[in-house]
Amino acid sequence: MEHRHPVIVAGAGIIGASIAHELTLRGEKVILVDRQEPGRGASFGNMASIAINGFDAVSRPSTWKKLPGWLIDPNAPVTADPLYAMRMVPWFLKFLGAGRPSRIRAIEDAGASLATRALDDLIAMLDRIGARDMLSEASCLSLYASEKAFDDDRGNRALMDRHGLKYEVLAGDAIREREPQLNPAIPKATVLPQNHFISDPFLLVKRLIEAILKNGGALIAGDVTRVERDNRGVTALILRDGRRLETDRLVLATGVHTRALAEALREPIPLETERGYHTQIMSPGTDLTYSLIWPERAFMVTPTAGGIRVGGSVEMAGLTKSPNWKRARILVEHAKFAIPSLKVENYTEWMGHRPAMPDTIPVMSASAKTKGLYYATGHGHLGLTYSATVGLLMADMITGRTLPVDVLPFRVDRF
Ligand SMILES: Cc1cc2nc3c(=O)[nH]c(=O)nc-3n(C[C@H](O)[C@H](O)[C@H](O)COP(=O)(O)OP(=O)(O)OC[C@H]3O[C@@H](n4cnc5c(N)ncnc54)[C@H](O)[C@@H]3O)c2cc1C
Repeated sequence: MEHRHPVIVAGAGIIGASIAHELTLRGEKVILVDRQEPGRGASFGNMASIAINGFDAVSRPSTWKKLPGWLIDPNAPVTADPLYAMRMVPWFLKFLGAGRPSRIRAIEDAGASLATRALDDLIAMLDRIGARDMLSEASCLSLYASEKAFDDDRGNRALMDRHGLKYEVLAGDAIREREPQLNPAIPKATVLPQNHFISDPFLLVKRLIEAILKNGGALIAGDVTRVERDNRGVTALILRDGRRLETDRLVLATGVHTRALAEALREPIPLETERGYHTQIMSPGTDLTYSLIWPERAFMVTPTAGGIRVGGSVEMAGLTKSPNWKRARILVEHAKFAIPSLKVENYTEWMGHRPAMPDTIPVMSASAKTKGLYYATGHGHLGLTYSATVGLLMADMITGRTLPVDVLPFRVDRF
């Protein structure tokens, strides 16, 4: 079918930029729209990790047991603002529903269908934009404070076994042989050889935007307020200043803000913000080869282009509450334990909003109600990891190609 208008992609985070880039490679005319500088949302300050093993279903009985303790402990990896928690009840019920044994396997299989190809897709995307040097050669070490903590994480190793992902278990001095800066009190670690990291996630979005413009795409600054449609499908995107961008194919990739736009279209998506923090330490006084993940304490340390980045944490407190920088400082204390030589001087702090679905798998879907409308959101903790794969799959969907992955689990109307 011939299309008179360009495809419009609303949202120029890593997800929208990856989709727009792939569409331009296929010869589509594309307009990308964002109300702020591209890449300034969640994609700006994530932990830069290509976390191939990170697709375990979060809702499961073992997590539920920990929740009450976490919610009363301000230092816990997950916290919730008590007032906001009440507004989250419908989301939380869906979260519990996703933890049924029958759902856990399906959610993990769906995640694996993306994760097991994500690195190859990312390398291909980086090659196409001439940014392969942004991907680390080095991989990731997962750290454990005790044998018990290592044992408690056996579910993730079983998941990797099931999906053919590799890991190597290290104990005692073997850990320091790989990463000499690590605290000798850390008894156990696993090397995750398929996990890598990006030197600067914000720069990656910028490089994608440059490639989009070079391929003939356009970038428009504007605040999307409404989608216009008639009985044949999408007709236009309306911006706050009154501009009307005509189109018959529109992708909403506005991160956590997709919730409000979808609600107005009477196609509600149960998206929540999982607020997370980072501290970017420009003069860390030490260096690291690997990125580090500490599953028990839900934080990461990544050697990025601008120094060492420490971050993670999950705070359920909505879109408008001011950041609680204590959350970032707790992570820095954990990092100082892991790396005793770490100096925290010359640093910046950041908070961002992960677009989170209750079942921890994204929405990548045509609208169930409006022809020509597509959604790409809800990538939670793995938006950077999945970005290139999302770009390919969404471009396949929009251009009517056969998809190499079953996207039924990611449909917008699954709840
Ligand atoms: C602390 C933290 C650590 C993380 N670590 C990792 C990691 O190591 N690896 C990983 O894979 N993922 C990680 N993530 C998750 C990852 O950052 C997100 O999944 C990803 O950035 C989501 O990308 P997005 O493009 O959907 O959203 P965003 O980056 O938020 O982009 C959405 C864009 O839409 C625009 N927008 C919104 N509403 C409108 C509107 N009405 N009109 C116009 N524009 C609009 C915004 O301005 C924004 O630019 C982390 C996240 C956080 C917070």
